[in-house]
Amino acid sequence: MVDSGKIRNIGIIAHIDAGKTTLTERILFYTGIEHKMGEVHEGTAKMDYLPEEQDRGITITSAATTCYWKDHRINIIDTPGHVDFTAEVERSLCVLDGAIGIIDGVAGVQAQSETVWRQADSYEIPRIIFVNKLDRVGARFLDVVEDCRRRLGAPVVPIQLPVGEEKAFKGTVDLIEMKAIYADEEDQGQTVRFEEIPDELLDDAELHRQVLFEHLAEISDSFMERYVEDQEITADEIKAVLHEGVLSFKIVPALCGAAFRNKGVQQVLDAVVDYLPSPLDRESIKGIRPTGGGKEVERRPSADEPLCALVFKTIHDHHGELAFLRIYSGLLKQGTAVFNPRKEKVERLSRLYLMHANERHAVESAGPGEIVAVVGFKRTGTGDTICPKNKQILLEGMDFPESVIDLSIEPGSLSEKDDLEASLEILAKDDPTFSWRIDEETGQMIISGMGELHLEILKGRLIKEFKLNVRTGKPRVAYKQTIKNAADGTGKFHKTVGEKELFGQIELRVEPAAGERGIIFESRLDKTEIPKLFWSSIEYSIRSTALSGISLGFAVVNVKVTVLGGSYDPSRSGEIAFGVAAEMAFKDAMEKGGTVLLEPIMNLEIESPLEYLSGIQSDLNGRRARILEVDVNTDPAVLRGSVPLANVFGYSTTVRSLSQGRASFSLEPLEYQPVPPSEVRSMFDALNR
Ligand code: GDP
Ligand code: MG
Repeated sequence: MVDSGKIRNIGIIAHIDAGKTTLTERILFYTGIEHKMGEVHEGTAKMDYLPEEQDRGITITSAATTCYWKDHRINIIDTPGHVDFTAEVERSLCVLDGAIGIIDGVAGVQAQSETVWRQADSYEIPRIIFVNKLDRVGARFLDVVEDCRRRLGAPVVPIQLPVGEEKAFKGTVDLIEMKAIYADEEDQGQTVRFEEIPDELLDDAELHRQVLFEHLAEISDSFMERYVEDQEITADEIKAVLHEGVLSFKIVPALCGAAFRNKGVQQVLDAVVDYLPSPLDRESIKGIRPTGGGKEVERRPSADEPLCALVFKTIHDHHGELAFLRIYSGLLKQGTAVFNPRKEKVERLSRLYLMHANERHAVESAGPGEIVAVVGFKRTGTGDTICPKNKQILLEGMDFPESVIDLSIEPGSLSEKDDLEASLEILAKDDPTFSWRIDEETGQMIISGMGELHLEILKGRLIKEFKLNVRTGKPRVAYKQTIKNAADGTGKFHKTVGEKELFGQIELRVEPAAGERGIIFESRLDKTEIPKLFWSSIEYSIRSTALSGISLGFAVVNVKVTVLGGSYDPSRSGEIAFGVAAEMAFKDAMEKGGTVLLEPIMNLEIESPLEYLSGIQSDLNGRRARILEVDVNTDPAVLRGSVPLANVFGYSTTVRSLSQGRASFSLEPLEYQPVPPSEVRSMFDALNR
């Protein structure tokens, strides 16, 4: 059994192309997990294991992998950088204890690094920063550190300095040990040499060491005393205060290097061990007791506590289903039965594995802080808690954004229709931001996701992995609808089917819940009014009616539904009757309240050389864009704002031609907003095309 204090569960977060995969490959090589270094551009990176990922050189599915460094076990969750995969990032952040933020040494803080940084803020994850690509032309370590402080609002302080920059980049100066560190080129950087700091860098190093000390003095009083009294301070003392500062968010140490040139990687591993938290640094995890009124319960990260684990991902492959879990307390043992309180089901854990990308190593049991994969679960999905049946705890589930893009899809031949439906079901189960439905009006199969790339990749998987010959239509905006005014609705179902008489009646209220996602469900039903047995079918029916979309065929979101009451007849009522009555009541309320059409608004960030900016800006004026900020003091200049998704289909072609291919942009879902009345007409025209 591993000592939980020697585990580090970390993620690597960054903008796409900052070098996450490259850094991870180096880490696997230096820790001896890989005997050959994989390269992204050759399609041999180990962490990018789906065929789609190796083709495109990007990371889509976050894979967990385990390696060892200086007697510590490091579990790395590789998170994708593309905005279409925010759900992957969210669910990784949910189970991490610490993270490495990689920042491009030339581009500085980019849109997605900022987004992920804020996500990590909200999950309160301690971080360190690695400024990468210092070998590239235009690399400026200290400017990028300043950019991080400004854009991320984080107390970023260098603990290293580069020896040379751009082509002359040779190694790093360690401000704690006050040594220069070089990696040998002959053995791909495996041998690391510690040497004296070059004379011309001594003053800078001394200066930045003082800056670091001043920050540390603010974290620890005893450090302050010793610093002020000019006492000798050891490297271990510095590291201890840094560790404390990282955990309390008072400091974010910045390291530097060039992963691709094999420089600075081992120091990142050292920093993970020295500064990022172990599972024991988290005092306890809080959840609620599902039975007994939802009282709060806590579990400490100890093997003696009852089991508590969170499923943060499921994957289906040719071996069947694999569920990834983070254990917070207690022990998970192979061959035992566990309980899933959300589904109220007992699950059997037939096999337990440690994961290394797509390879698995069987283990007998695992304890607090470990990340493992399990085979044998039947009903458990992402966000579910696992615990003993007699000591239940329910952790907060994960919150995923609404999909923004729809695509019609059809099987190559009629005989493949069932297979396609089954495959879509599997994909939707593994990816909470992907869904599919059959349009009630047209009978078309529709898939929905977070962006064009997201759906394109899922389509690729259907073709390659599931061997289905699918055809898709043009991507369309996934409009939604919500209720205009609060309204009450009634549904009464009374019918004789064959010999049997069926009866159910429901009253409910639907009201706007702006700022919320999806459906908030509340029930004021009393056991004497309608037996508890039928409650879940009422909720299920309302949720699925909302999802499949009433009148206009768009999903209903941002509403609160309160079941007010109903009536029951022991001789005639059944599950079906209540399901239908609930659907009728929901539709009735929606009709009375009136609906508002909602459209997805995207966050937009454009980086462009100054000379093309005005052209880009005037083009945006015709796209209902809101420009919030234009920063011309940076090179390239940066424009930030928001724009309706409907107006930026095929935008990459426009940007390319407006800037002779030199501007780049990123778009990511921000929120749903009512469609202005003037647009509604053209919207319907577009839909009917
Ligand atoms: P990811 O999208 O964050 O996973 O980034 P990748 O690891 O796929 O890297 C993106 C590109 O940048 C690849 O072509 C890498 O070879 C390249 N790259 C990564 N690190 C460095 C570096 O330190 N220096 C240079 N010059 N290129 C790098
Ligand atoms: Mg990658």
